[in-house]
Amino acid sequence: MNKILFNNQITARERFIDIEDRGYQFGDGIYEVIGVYDGKPFLLEEHLLRLKRSAKEVHLQLPEKIEKIKGNLEKLVQVNELVEGIIYLQISRGTAARWHEFPSPEVSPVMVAYTRAEQRMSNVEDEGAIATLTEDIRWLRCDIKTLNLLPNVLAKQKAVEQNAIEAILHRGETVTEASASNVFMVRNEEVYTHPANNFILNGITRQQVLQLCNKLGIRVKEKPFNIKEMLQAEEVFITATKLDIVPILKVDQHTIASGNPGDITKKILHEFRKLYQKQVKSNS
Ligand code: PMP
Repeated sequence: MNKILFNNQITARERFIDIEDRGYQFGDGIYEVIGVYDGKPFLLEEHLLRLKRSAKEVHLQLPEKIEKIKGNLEKLVQVNELVEGIIYLQISRGTAARWHEFPSPEVSPVMVAYTRAEQRMSNVEDEGAIATLTEDIRWLRCDIKTLNLLPNVLAKQKAVEQNAIEAILHRGETVTEASASNVFMVRNEEVYTHPANNFILNGITRQQVLQLCNKLGIRVKEKPFNIKEMLQAEEVFITATKLDIVPILKVDQHTIASGNPGDITKKILHEFRKLYQKQVKSNS
């Protein structure tokens, strides 16, 4: 049975989490999902930087220095002999009598991490998928990776019921992101994505894609676009950890361009895959 990280200890999975853990009762906590390739966490430093930012934004004291958390996660992957999959890391504000305000006196945060073996959905990356549109009913701090995911859960469920890979979210006419991924469109050979403000999570994959576009000489506009513009785009794709880059061929009834994965999307995906290959090489 896989081990977990519980605060600073690598231990058996069966652990006691109090019913008054604030993560359990309020969703009062933050998390990260990190991909693992060839036995090594991928873009771990970037994920931990985002974790640190999330902690600061919700006034949560990280239980450990980032370096220590990093070491513990690397150890967990090793102990579990994980080759390909994910690490899930969560930190709640801790356990205290149930009152909405922060516990006083302060309590220790509860940090938990576990790993799960998982293969990449590689055919979907090459073949593309369909998405559905759903209203973005989330709060106004979507930039923080908090445990509060009920609107995302409802949106994703709606997508699954329609055999769609993702629910693309919109506030009014503006496309923000998707229930668990970022959304891009290509128009006049330029890549558009919503700016990294309070309306979206600044995905680690998103950040890599923007860097790759730069490297490839593809022009990028971090500028909001609307539903109509997206449906008339040359290409649409989504990005997320483990999903990587998935071409969207259809949004509900609307086929995007010719209904095939676009050239710019394929180019970015090709370059993105090289990032893993570099990791695999550096391991051997
Ligand atoms: N937006 C949302 C709402 C997400 O939950 C996620 C993560 N699954 C992303 C975007 C993509 O972020 P990342 O590339 O860091 O996985």
